Amino acid sequence: MIIKEPFDRLVIIAYRLPFKFVKSKEGFKAIQNAGGLVSAILALSESFKKSKNTLVNNKILWSGVGDHLPEPGKIENEHFDIVPVRIPARLNDQFYGGFSNDLIWPLFHYFSSYSVIKNNYFEAYKEANILFCQEIIKHIKPGDFIWIHDYQLLLLPEMIRQKIPDATIGFFLHIPFPSYEIFRQLPRPWRDAIIQGMLGADLIGFHTHDYTQHFIKSVKRTTGFECRQNVIFTSNKVVKADAFPIGIDFEKFHQASYDKAVLKEKDKIRKSLGEQKLVFSVDRLDYTKGLLSRLLGFETFLEKNPGWRSKVVFNMVVVPSRDSIEKYKEMKKEIESTVGRINGRFSTLSWRPLVYQYKTLSFNELVALYDISDVGLITPLRDGMNLVAKEFVASQRENLDALILSEMAGAAAELNEALIINPADNNEIAEAILTALEMSPLEKKTRIERMQNRIASYNVFTWAHDFFNQTNEIKSQQNMMRVKYINPGITGTIAMAYQKAGRRILFLDYDGTLVAFAKYPELAVIDKTTLKIVKKLASDPRNHIVIISGRGKEFLEKQFGTVPVTLVAEHGYFIKKAGEAWESTISADAQWKEAVMPILKEYVDRCNGTFIEEKTGSLAWHYRNADMDFAQLRLNELRDDLAEIIRHKTDFEILEGHKVLEVKSGKYDKGQAAAVLIAKEYYDFILAAGDDKTDEFLFQAIPDFGYTIRVGLSPSFARYNVPDTDSLLTLLQTLMR
Ligand code: UDP
Repeated sequence: MIIKEPFDRLVIIAYRLPFKFVKSKEGFKAIQNAGGLVSAILALSESFKKSKNTLVNNKILWSGVGDHLPEPGKIENEHFDIVPVRIPARLNDQFYGGFSNDLIWPLFHYFSSYSVIKNNYFEAYKEANILFCQEIIKHIKPGDFIWIHDYQLLLLPEMIRQKIPDATIGFFLHIPFPSYEIFRQLPRPWRDAIIQGMLGADLIGFHTHDYTQHFIKSVKRTTGFECRQNVIFTSNKVVKADAFPIGIDFEKFHQASYDKAVLKEKDKIRKSLGEQKLVFSVDRLDYTKGLLSRLLGFETFLEKNPGWRSKVVFNMVVVPSRDSIEKYKEMKKEIESTVGRINGRFSTLSWRPLVYQYKTLSFNELVALYDISDVGLITPLRDGMNLVAKEFVASQRENLDALILSEMAGAAAELNEALIINPADNNEIAEAILTALEMSPLEKKTRIERMQNRIASYNVFTWAHDFFNQTNEIKSQQNMMRVKYINPGITGTIAMAYQKAGRRILFLDYDGTLVAFAKYPELAVIDKTTLKIVKKLASDPRNHIVIISGRGKEFLEKQFGTVPVTLVAEHGYFIKKAGEAWESTISADAQWKEAVMPILKEYVDRCNGTFIEEKTGSLAWHYRNADMDFAQLRLNELRDDLAEIIRHKTDFEILEGHKVLEVKSGKYDKGQAAAVLIAKEYYDFILAAGDDKTDEFLFQAIPDFGYTIRVGLSPSFARYNVPDTDSLLTLLQTLMR
């Protein structure tokens, strides 16, 4: 992989500061705690030190909530500059304990019945994200790459973007992003804020393709933004969402198996096991980890396979976590009583089937257990990734094991040579344990080696560099698109040309250009301010203002009846000059409607939320209120059905606009209508503004000296883009100053 870090300094923002602070002469010494993210970033820090660019001079900056809170700048650490964020304890209870861990954690892990919705939770969450933002922006410099981590900081990307519009921001979610059906359980303003918050980043990373797709679907449903593959076209920039399955420091685990201390550990365990086979699991205490159903699976195995009794021991290590919370306390009790019950049921004088330990393991103990065991039993009910599974595979050296892995762990997407099971099914767990214990050494070796090759190559460095490289790519895509963005300089040039001109013509599309989209076309009426701008433009005798739209005659007349403008309706079918009557530009009968209407009606029935708009020369099938994915599917089918009729009838054609497919008589378009108007008089200033595919005909008809502007970010024949209708209105006002 080619590595081109697109930045001078890396800034990590995560809820937790992975340091303990120890008082020293200078102030405080920050000593790193272990943990997935911190060891990844530490390893990156080492690799940056060897790089030839500016990264070598700049320490990584790490911001998060600390245990103690010394002043930034007074903390020493050889790898990191540390910026602690101060969150008052009561706020933290609501923000971290409440919104993050009582709501987002269970909901995003599909435990929606565990999620608690309290109004003050969200306020606290927002406030805490603001505190993060206020602290971090004091330290951000041009050239920084800001990498925000996890579910506690979902609002932060957009908050930083508001303060530093040009910042390079990446966001990574370490837990699953759930399907929209789960996500939509959040109150509407909260889910809108979460999506908007995340979209403040340039690149949004998830562990798996499925989580990415769930996120994109939620973006479409909450914002209506266009998404092509993994690129989201927001109102002011493109954002990419993609899968970056987090890796581990493969070599660290792979080499550790032969460390002296680890060999000693293994010896100790081997002696205590004797001839017995060892099944091993280690997880934090959490309801997502499937600890109880794992125990029941093991019980079923013992029940069904009496021949294995006294020949196998299951060592289940549970690492203490959140055990002051009532749910976790209850779960711990239930686990302990189940362990007692199973041991009571099967133990003999010389054999106890379950060894349950509630403790933290040292690194050496962990690697020794990974390697010495015969079966790894990792069965979470839901897990964003599950690093234990990868560490387990990496640590296999002396005694190659079989791995049993839940299909609900993100890691299952990469470790598909494991025995993949459904964690809720006792029988499947029991059968997998038997298969694993009886697996031939050759099969174990083949499976483990394939998995090892994969995780050795996409390790934690590849993960981070892949993320950096993709940020680079999306930034350059943004820059390419931004070249066309109207900036104050371009606005000045257009305004000057406008002022100098003796005779001007301005073509203004209606929907999406002068007026934002509404749920139904009849609701998108012009507001007073916009009408005032159009009136003012039209009142200048040097101006010829043309409202050029796909709308019908009556609607346009109702909106602009009192304003001296030319109206072009139905994409150029009808034209009405100020004070004159409507004229039709073509003579077409609409016989085709008889054949097409029943088809469109069928699609209204087959796709909820769609509707038909009938005009003199056209029929439009609108799908703006439908589920976008489903509508796309139906749209493809509709195109095929219509193509079939076009083969026999040639008196109509299909036009596609913004979330609408329109069937219209003959070959007229906005471009032809504009060309006729331009040819009738001499104009030394021409401007055309529109927002969708039908306006592309208009842009192409404008002579080179004219100014063409597309509202929104899509690629276009227009010379410039503005992000939204408001920006276009501001531009029009600037011309008249
Ligand atoms: N781990 C640990 N202490 C232990 C046992 C395990 O710190 O006593 C580590 C383990 O090596 C792994 C992490 O905890 O890196 C657990 O990560 P995983 O993704 O499996 O689950 P999470 O706890 O993040 O949900």
